[in-house]
Amino acid sequence: MRIDTKCVHSGSARDTISRGLNTPIFPSSAYEYLDTESTVYPRYFNTVNQRVLVEKICELEGAEDGVVFSSGMAAISSVLLSFLKAGDHAVLQDEIYGGSHAFVTAFFHRFGIEYSFAATSAEAIEAAIRPETRLLFIETPTNPLLNVLDIRAVTAMARRKGCLTVIDNTFATPILQNPIALGIDIVVHSGTKYLGGHSDLSCGAVATSSELALKIRNTAVNFGGNLNALTCYLLERSLKTLAIRVRQQSANAFKVAQFLEGEGGFGKVNYPGLSGHPGHEMARSQMSGFGAMLSFELDHPDLSVDAFMKGLKLIIPAVSLGGIESTICDPARTSHAKVSAEVRARQGISGNLLRLSVGIEDADDLIEDLAQAAEGKGK
Ligand SMILES: *Cc1c(COP(=O)(O)O)cnc(C)c1O
Repeated sequence: MRIDTKCVHSGSARDTISRGLNTPIFPSSAYEYLDTESTVYPRYFNTVNQRVLVEKICELEGAEDGVVFSSGMAAISSVLLSFLKAGDHAVLQDEIYGGSHAFVTAFFHRFGIEYSFAATSAEAIEAAIRPETRLLFIETPTNPLLNVLDIRAVTAMARRKGCLTVIDNTFATPILQNPIALGIDIVVHSGTKYLGGHSDLSCGAVATSSELALKIRNTAVNFGGNLNALTCYLLERSLKTLAIRVRQQSANAFKVAQFLEGEGGFGKVNYPGLSGHPGHEMARSQMSGFGAMLSFELDHPDLSVDAFMKGLKLIIPAVSLGGIESTICDPARTSHAKVSAEVRARQGISGNLLRLSVGIEDADDLIEDLAQAAEGKGK
């Protein structure tokens, strides 16, 4: 099966009672146990709704097994604490998602785990590796500048050094980037974003080998963070349209990025699909599309970021991303509010940088909205 077909047909359990087409929702939290091999329980990650969902995600990621969680952070924290113990060291990219960054800096010292942050390059990550480095954690394209990291270079180096590799594949989705095929050991997702895709559910996912998935589940039963049956079903339903959503959103983002680049009132545009973007060639070599996230600077003498966002009639100022509706935010005040002004300046996240999550609307409507808001005549 090709990926669009997998989105529709993989990982579903047919309804044998009424012969309906969709996986039934099994809400039980108590299951009979006599004459069974293993006890079913939601926090053991082995209910039917959890299992079929894992099967679908694994088909898309090219993984053997996985785990679905109640949030992206439940997935990320469970993975990190499955493989790191006191005395170990981890290298993480400094541009990873703010919540992942905060988890590492707030909690690793309590467990005696050492860590280093490294810039978005395989060389910088390699330079941060120590003899006791056990795990590398990366994310590409990055938020909000859409920098692109060479995944193959990282995984080849990690194999030489004997480190486990984890990637946050939230921005790219399995439709555009298949990290396991590029040598990554463990893929994590905030399914709250593109996998869910309708800004109405919270979940996380891990896709990996059978051996590593077992270790992650054995850790995760202690932390909880399992996904409930109703949300499992909603996510399964969402994944059926993942490929068409992501492709439409990416096509729209490309048009919007081209418009912004050529239009007065906007400064630097960060989108890997633009030939002038520093990660363009790398994105071409490891992704099958450039994604639907972009950022740009507002460069307007008498229009503040707030006034611009308030002037938008269609694009909604909102945090989070990946929904079918276009949303916009200023990272300096939202996703990167906790990052010091100095680090933000070093990374290139200015106060007039705006991050756009492009939806499935007609791209021309989005472009017209941005154009009219830039004229500053909005509400
Ligand atoms: C949102 C996000 C997360 C965290 O996911 P939650 O579902 O909010 O816990 C992790 N990584 C990336 C890239 C994200 O955008």
